[in-house]
Amino acid sequence: PFELRGKTVYVAGHRGMVGSALVRRLAAEHVELLTTPRNEVDLRDQAAVNAWFATRRPQAVFLAAAKVGGIVANNTLRAEFLYDNLAIASNVIHAAHVHGAEKLMFLGSSCIYPKLAPQPLREDSMLTGPLEPTNEPYAIAKIAGFKMVEAYRSQYGADFINVMPTNLYGRGDNYHPEYSHVVAALIRRFHEAKVAGAKEVAVWGTGTPRREFLYVDDLADACIHLMKNYSDSELVNIGTGEDITIAEFARVVAATVGYTGEIGFDASRPDGTPRKLLDVSRLAKLGWRASTKLEDGIRLAYQAYLSEIREPAE
Ligand code: GDP
Repeated sequence: PFELRGKTVYVAGHRGMVGSALVRRLAAEHVELLTTPRNEVDLRDQAAVNAWFATRRPQAVFLAAAKVGGIVANNTLRAEFLYDNLAIASNVIHAAHVHGAEKLMFLGSSCIYPKLAPQPLREDSMLTGPLEPTNEPYAIAKIAGFKMVEAYRSQYGADFINVMPTNLYGRGDNYHPEYSHVVAALIRRFHEAKVAGAKEVAVWGTGTPRREFLYVDDLADACIHLMKNYSDSELVNIGTGEDITIAEFARVVAATVGYTGEIGFDASRPDGTPRKLLDVSRLAKLGWRASTKLEDGIRLAYQAYLSEIREPAE
């Protein structure tokens, strides 16, 4: 296995939900953690990324930096999602290779699978059909990143690996009313409705799409496990293997938050892809499974939300 202890480990995207969970999890691994403050190194700037790698020369790299957002953000900021994510992946993967990183993990997302791929989504369905149009720019950038990792592995023998997290939630999420993902959006909306004594809350879409949700600290644990124990060109899905309709999920959030009013559905808002459940059998064979139940994770995420609105990060 790949030893992390004592190594210089770079977490790209350490302020994000995934990167900050990796930083928390790495505390137990006794590594020398390296990060790039956003105001010092713009990861879209190739020269800046190369200069940073040339001096710091990290031994291991977790590439968790990305421009991310929910269905509206993806669909509205199409140019930014494509450019920023292509540039980040290209700059960091290439610099890691040039400056001798021993291992790199690139994190994608389940939206890279074709819209109508068979469910649960197996790793080999990548590039077998058209993508969900609302997040195609993001997906194309992530697919390019996966292909880079694969190519650097096959051409240069680099120990670079690809992982594919499902929909994530937890501490450090983005609660923007338009641009957030569904978990953060509903935690905030139900909380604000409870505080205001509102009688009805609208959930976007029809409530019928199904989604799988993974608690971000579980994801971080899976990433550390794979970084140590996995070295192959195949992607690895990271999820729970279970999904739930948006309507049922909304009831879980309402119950957790303590909102007791009506739950309505706003069908003028997009549903996105009908179902998104990962096949996690490869991950299970590699010896890892999720441990946080959805109800427990949502409770922890709600507590995190409450502390974040009391003490904003910046
Ligand atoms: P997706 O998994 O890429 O589609 O990303 P989202 O997390 O943004 O949306 C997941 C599902 O939740 C979609 O079917 C949305 O229509 C639905 N949804 C319901 N209410 C909301 C909301 O307030 N915000 C978001 N982002 N999605 C919502």
